[in-house]
Amino acid sequence: MGISETMQQRNTLSFEVFPPKTDIGMNKLCGENGVLEKLYSLNPDYISCTYGAGGTNVGKNLEVVRKIRTDGRCIPVTHFTCIGNTKDGIREQLQTYLDNGIDHVLALRGDLPFGWTGTGGDLHYATELVSFIRDEFGSRFTVGVAGSPEGHIACTSLQADIDFLKQKQDNGADFIMTQLCWDMDQFRRWLDAIRAAGVTMPVDIGIMPVLDQAATINMALSRNGCALPRKLCEIISKNWIFPNPFAPNESEESIAAKKASFKAAGMEYTVRQIEEYLACGINGIHLYALNKYDDVAQIAKDAGLV
Ligand code: FAD
Repeated sequence: MGISETMQQRNTLSFEVFPPKTDIGMNKLCGENGVLEKLYSLNPDYISCTYGAGGTNVGKNLEVVRKIRTDGRCIPVTHFTCIGNTKDGIREQLQTYLDNGIDHVLALRGDLPFGWTGTGGDLHYATELVSFIRDEFGSRFTVGVAGSPEGHIACTSLQADIDFLKQKQDNGADFIMTQLCWDMDQFRRWLDAIRAAGVTMPVDIGIMPVLDQAATINMALSRNGCALPRKLCEIISKNWIFPNPFAPNESEESIAAKKASFKAAGMEYTVRQIEEYLACGINGIHLYALNKYDDVAQIAKDAGLV
């Protein structure tokens, strides 16, 4: 059964990892008693592996999803971007995934590197990539697509973004994986709006655990323009570790204590957020594991997902 059919029946649990650049990182993720093996113990429905836009580190991405496939404990899903790719290149890479038993793909455009004005490839949007996959491979792939509850950073309007999401569905996409969104009111408005627009695909919620201050601020603001709700801002302010005019000579011990206190508050915040999402009638929780196990496992357990 494809993951989208499972999502129609019950909420799924999944994790996201990225392809490590080094052999040590690969061993930590894919080796004996590595992070993947530990994640399997939480019974995820799938584990997805990100894809470096433009094809960077593609070999390691394939190694990771192949390992998940060989282990046979859950479905491997590969992310895939069309920027900088020709149609021939896309066809060849997708065929390689199929040849390795990988038949779930998250079809993305990819972030345009700074200074690029187009995708530098044959396809320009994820809508086109979904059509291409269906034209070339029929129903051999289950196809996920990105959804942005706050609107993609470059969209002309939220409604236009939702219309393109509907187009992805019309072109053959099976399910939505969302961009991180901490603004629950906005998420509820978006969910109502996509349903009103005729988007019936299951919605899998991308959750970035709040564990590290710099990473949280970076993910929200460096590319995605996500709102940081008052409660999350409070957690950041109370544990502020960056250059601080009010405590210019802060000791390393004090900073370490703040990092630990931020993480504890952030994990609790993430658990509450998952509970709010589950109450919205969504179809899955997708946790960014960031190639680590302990914190994400604790969050999944505390949120009752395991
Ligand atoms: P699109 O859907 O193509 O949208 C891009 C912009 O164009 C939007 O503003 C949209 O409104 C507009 N648009 C869409 N279709 C059309 C159309 N037909 N005509 C005109 N305008 C249109 N990036 C990576 O590099 N690797 C990853 O592994 C990765 N994983 C991700 C996982 C998730 C769950 C999400 C949400 C994002 C991920 N990204 C990843 C980031 C993603 O590549 C970027 O957000 C990228 O900028 C947009 O991708 P998209 O598929 O949403 O693009």
